[in-house]
Amino acid sequence: MRMSKYYAPTLKEVPNDTEIKSHELLIRGGFIRKTASGVYTYLPLGTKVLKKIENIVREEMENIGSQEILMPIIQPAEIWQKSGRWDDYGPEMMKLKDRHDRDFTLGPTHEEMITTIIKNELRSYKQLPISLFQIANKYRDEIRPRFGVLRAREFIMKDAYSFHDSEESLNETYEKFYKAYENILERLGVDYLVVEADTGAIGGSNSHEFQIKAEYGESTIYYCDCGYAATDERAESNVVFDTTNEKENNINKVDTPNVKTIDDVATFLKTDKNKIVKSLLFKSREGWVLALIRGDYELNIAKLKTFLSDQTLTLGEPDEIYKTFGVEIGFIGPVGIKNVKIIADHSIKNMKNFVVGGMEKDKHYINVNLNRDFKIDYFADIRMVSKGEPCPKCGDPLKEIKGIEVGQVFKLGTKYSEKLNAYYTAENGKTKPFIMGCYGWGVSRTLGAIVEQLHDDYGMIWPRNIAPFEIVIIPVSTKQKELVDKAEEIYNLLKDKYDVLYDDRDASPGFKFKDADLIGIPLKVVLGKKMKNGKVEIKLRYEKNSQEVDISKSYDDLL
Ligand code: ATP
Ligand code: MG
Ligand code: MG
Ligand code: MG
Repeated sequence: MRMSKYYAPTLKEVPNDTEIKSHELLIRGGFIRKTASGVYTYLPLGTKVLKKIENIVREEMENIGSQEILMPIIQPAEIWQKSGRWDDYGPEMMKLKDRHDRDFTLGPTHEEMITTIIKNELRSYKQLPISLFQIANKYRDEIRPRFGVLRAREFIMKDAYSFHDSEESLNETYEKFYKAYENILERLGVDYLVVEADTGAIGGSNSHEFQIKAEYGESTIYYCDCGYAATDERAESNVVFDTTNEKENNINKVDTPNVKTIDDVATFLKTDKNKIVKSLLFKSREGWVLALIRGDYELNIAKLKTFLSDQTLTLGEPDEIYKTFGVEIGFIGPVGIKNVKIIADHSIKNMKNFVVGGMEKDKHYINVNLNRDFKIDYFADIRMVSKGEPCPKCGDPLKEIKGIEVGQVFKLGTKYSEKLNAYYTAENGKTKPFIMGCYGWGVSRTLGAIVEQLHDDYGMIWPRNIAPFEIVIIPVSTKQKELVDKAEEIYNLLKDKYDVLYDDRDASPGFKFKDADLIGIPLKVVLGKKMKNGKVEIKLRYEKNSQEVDISKSYDDLL
């Protein structure tokens, strides 16, 4: 590719709405452009890397026998109503209506869809196990789209789904995907960790996340040198507040129209007799509801802050809150609570008399008893992991590191097949719901995550396998005929074998070097004065110094 003809609008200045380096560099390098909050266009450089990532992912899927399909992005509401997720998924789900007033969603994920597709057509145990995958756009109306393609509202995911007639068969396939995901990360050439993830309704180690290590990653991982690693998202359960208990249980609804900020919370709680106790932290998918905190106060406050930063409430410093509240108390939001996620230990089951956000705006409940008044959807065997706590495997203190979740594998069991009536005929002639697994990979997030891990002050540092170009050829002058001729010659020689960018622009060498470094091309070949002696200067992007080599040198050995 000739740079003079290539559409790669690079920027010298730092764009003002970029919080982290990968976002900045992808914009400055001319890889992506923002169309709307969390919605991006991939320019030629970005598209090229994306395709290379996609191909690695696709190859690894095909290697384990998964078959590629392409499902619609627009999904009818009915299938989501059947699974219960039309209401449960929360405001991340983008919904739309057609001209006949029928409801649809722009799919945030495809469990309902795939189950509906195979239903009635995949019929016999003889066809099992089977797995299908697609690489397609997903839509999630993230509360805070940020970090460019890392947390977008439209993004590209590889999602795979598997169907089984036994737990053993599911386990086997799960292992295959696990290994395939490790292969993907090896081929991408990044530093990563596989961590135990939220096990959800099913319990056991039924989910793993694949995390690319990065200082500014949004995931917190607790790990140990013995190999144990888990995310802090792990200890979660789903509970739903049951308002039908209100009267019966003497739950009082109090008007709290002014409770909006943490200071309002403090004032409200000071005047309220029903102080909240025990460690408890709520995160709501719709709106929010929160309660605190005993135990590792700082940890919980830190978590609380993270949650709150996603919401409208502003929060004071931990000390300030402690001083204000005097005790470890908790709180609540003005929005309704539904699908509350709890992060706590088992002691919360015995909690009594705490305050929760009302289902109505500007109202709160007091005298609430968790075990009695919440319908607990599931209660995972919670093991709070945090920094310094003993590793569940070996007892050493756990360490903390940040990562970016690029993939997650999950054993689903029969949750979707049962709800959507997807049954097969077993060997004994009986009909049974499919046992399922699902396996997601964030293709577009991977693009950002790699840059987040691999960059320096000058720009991106792409591993060869996914670099937009492997080699860039730069003649120091476009005026000297012999240099240009030689550059053309080398370009023509290399371009059949490598992905080569020939910077034939009429610009200063310094200008071209800056672009080459910014874009992060692994190998730079510079043609200058030494050309006369048959030498070129080459520099690997990740190395400090350049070297002089014979022009006939094989680049295979260098890259
Ligand atoms: P997160 O915890 O970051 O919100 P998730 O756990 O909700 O991600 P999954 O439902 O597991 O995401 O989806 C599978 C993969 O899709 C994730 O591992 C991630 O790589 C990618 N992904 C999820 N949400 C986004 C997003 N908003 N933007 C880009 N990629 C995403
Ligand atoms: Mg998410
Ligand atoms: Mg996640
Ligand atoms: Mg996930």
